[in-house]
Amino acid sequence: MPAKLIDGNKIASEIRAEVAAEAKKMSDAGMRPGLAVVLVGNNPASAVYVRGKVKACEEVGIHSEKIAPPENVSTEELLAVITDLNRRDEIDGILVQLPLPPQVDSKKVLMEVDPAKDVDGFHPMNVGFLSTQRPGLGPCTPAGIMEILKRSGVAIAGQEAVVVGRSDIVGKPVAMLLTNANATVTICHSKTRDLPGVCRRADILVAAIGRAGMITKNFVKPGATVIDVGMNAVTDRAEFDRLFLGNAKREETFRTKGSTLAGDVHPEVEEVAGALTPVPGGVGPLTIAMLMANTVKAAKVRRGERVLQKA
Ligand code: NAP
Repeated sequence: MPAKLIDGNKIASEIRAEVAAEAKKMSDAGMRPGLAVVLVGNNPASAVYVRGKVKACEEVGIHSEKIAPPENVSTEELLAVITDLNRRDEIDGILVQLPLPPQVDSKKVLMEVDPAKDVDGFHPMNVGFLSTQRPGLGPCTPAGIMEILKRSGVAIAGQEAVVVGRSDIVGKPVAMLLTNANATVTICHSKTRDLPGVCRRADILVAAIGRAGMITKNFVKPGATVIDVGMNAVTDRAEFDRLFLGNAKREETFRTKGSTLAGDVHPEVEEVAGALTPVPGGVGPLTIAMLMANTVKAAKVRRGERVLQKA
């Protein structure tokens, strides 16, 4: 039986509706949650991501501001931008769109963000809160993966989870969240021995690698839940054929656009997995939904008491 496809768009819109209700409550009390997005220079992909974030804010009723320093901005100038946003009471969330230009010390800039406004969850203080199970702001994509699992009724406690990828933004934090939710977690990376064998142990397999279609059928235990985080643009014809040969819809996109978006999981995995997140339409939509959720959470924690007093 083919895998059940998990509809990330549907889950994301449920979360956005919940966030919109919370944002309205705060706005009614005169404290509209606010997000500042810092977009340096002219990176086209970053500009697309930022547009999506600003649009999502409008849809859920969050105030948003785009701050766009020039490509040649210095670390000191950018630190001054962040310091100013840290001081402003009506800004609850600060997001610095990555990557930053090479002359900027990215780590220094991210450290400057007030942890209480760090809606990306990248500040070491929030990483520490996550690891020690204290309240804080968690990273959006891993939090979105947990929402997918919970809202799809996937059991986590006591299950074997395997995460392929150990990046600070996806692999490590999702492994931590799964551990906190009582899964037995294995983290794999490019030096892991017998990767297919380790992956086949998984009841929940998370692929966060950045390699189109790397996870094939022989990595997957029959019936496992497979979460595909990968977002890879396929532009090469041979690569396209390896993944999507005979898929008329994909063929059409590839012909007209010259590329198609592929996950890290090969489409053939649908034949063995119990449930699977598609690409596009799986994890992707959750990332922005959780950014909205984090902004409202940050607003409630920083200013919530004042809302309660006014209610
Ligand atoms: P990353 O920082 O490049 O990390 C990739 C990880 O995969 C590394 O830990 C690397 O191992 C591991 N890896 C690479 N090749 C491997 C191999 N052959 N076998 C086993 N492990 C291998 O990537 P990332 O930022 O975590 O992103 C991963 C993917 O998720 C990308 O496609 C990215 O576009 C996508 N993504 C999607 C969203 C979303 O919203 N859907 C958000 C963030 C990222 P080493 O550590 O040993 O090098």
